Amino acid sequence: MSYNPYDNVLATVENAAKILGYAKDEYEVVKYPERELKVNIPVKMDDGSIRVFEGFRVQHSTARGPAKGGIRFHQNVNKDEVKALSAWMTFKCATADIPYGGGKGGIIVNPSELSSGELERLTRRFAKEIAPIIGPDKDIPAPDVGTNAELMGWFLDSYNTVTSSHSPAVVTGKPLCLGGSKGRNEATGRGIMFNTMYLLEKHNIDIHDATIAIQGMGNVGSQSARLLHEAGAKIVAVSDVSGGAFNPNGLNISAICAYLAEKKGNTLAGYNEEGLVRISNEELLESDVTVLIPAALENQINADNADKIRAKMIVEGANGPTTVEADEILEKKGIPVVPDILANSGGVVVSYFEWVQNKQGYYWEEDEVNEKLRAKMYSAFNAVYDMAKEKNVSMRTGAYLISLKRVVEAEKARGI
Ligand code: GLU
Repeated sequence: MSYNPYDNVLATVENAAKILGYAKDEYEVVKYPERELKVNIPVKMDDGSIRVFEGFRVQHSTARGPAKGGIRFHQNVNKDEVKALSAWMTFKCATADIPYGGGKGGIIVNPSELSSGELERLTRRFAKEIAPIIGPDKDIPAPDVGTNAELMGWFLDSYNTVTSSHSPAVVTGKPLCLGGSKGRNEATGRGIMFNTMYLLEKHNIDIHDATIAIQGMGNVGSQSARLLHEAGAKIVAVSDVSGGAFNPNGLNISAICAYLAEKKGNTLAGYNEEGLVRISNEELLESDVTVLIPAALENQINADNADKIRAKMIVEGANGPTTVEADEILEKKGIPVVPDILANSGGVVVSYFEWVQNKQGYYWEEDEVNEKLRAKMYSAFNAVYDMAKEKNVSMRTGAYLISLKRVVEAEKARGI
């Protein structure tokens, strides 16, 4: 079955537009990305050969501010995925009420197969190729799946070189020494922790009684695991590309994170601890826990497995992990879902703080960043939760009612 994530976006937007009572013309423009750029990126590989990689940068909307969103390095990247991811960024920034539109970039590459030098050359050439359409007030990239602060440092340097400028605000999620923000690396996980805690509170569940399963141990999954563990929850299952690990007594999250970070190529398959049971990725998704956090890729909870989900609630760490069909099944089963555009918005919220600090040339302490993030997450969560209650819809629809309205209002105020 071929699955186009952009269809997922359109279905969600149509649904929200209908509830808001919009006529077709009022939201027509939101259905199309403003700009889609495809680039071919030649790289000299370590063995002297030349490989040409395909990359994309899509700007879905700049109605509320410059486009904003990460760059993904993954072998399954394609234009429709980048389009969907860019639209989700528009609605994510609008839900959090930060002054950005949405964008996303991606390169079709498996970064684990490239040396550090090859990755650097790929990143630098990509920065050069998309430089004409990005900039601190045009479109601001950041890390996503398969990219990190180190790559953002190379990206920044190449952009500054080709534009003969010093503009730290052209990219966020960069190293601290280049103008990165304290707290940015943990921000997505911290936002997920806040959203999970708020949802548990609404259901009168003490965090110390909650068990959690997390799919994906990249930046988002591992930081969420660490922070939720510190907050008192029991992380009983985690997974990565190599499969899953389950421990009914709670996994030793700091030992797992330390092992995975130890060297490139380490996966859960090589980790062991007392009481650990190996499970499949499917088993992880279907495990009987209080909270399931899909923090990997799109389309993980779909029509095939939604019915088998046993978690009491879901907090979406990944972008687009639940299909439209699965959403309906979960709603019928009464499983609340904190949607991606709210749950994982902590990353882009602190990206915004980073950009503000770059523009001011004045840097904040970590406590200040974390407190400002908490306040943003608290108001965004409650606005979405209350909207969902008021209209008797899912939290996803609630988030789209709020964000679509903000985007359409800005579009209207501008005119065509
Ligand atoms: N890639 C992250 C996301 O999907 C962060 C984007 C950003 O900070 O611009 O939200």
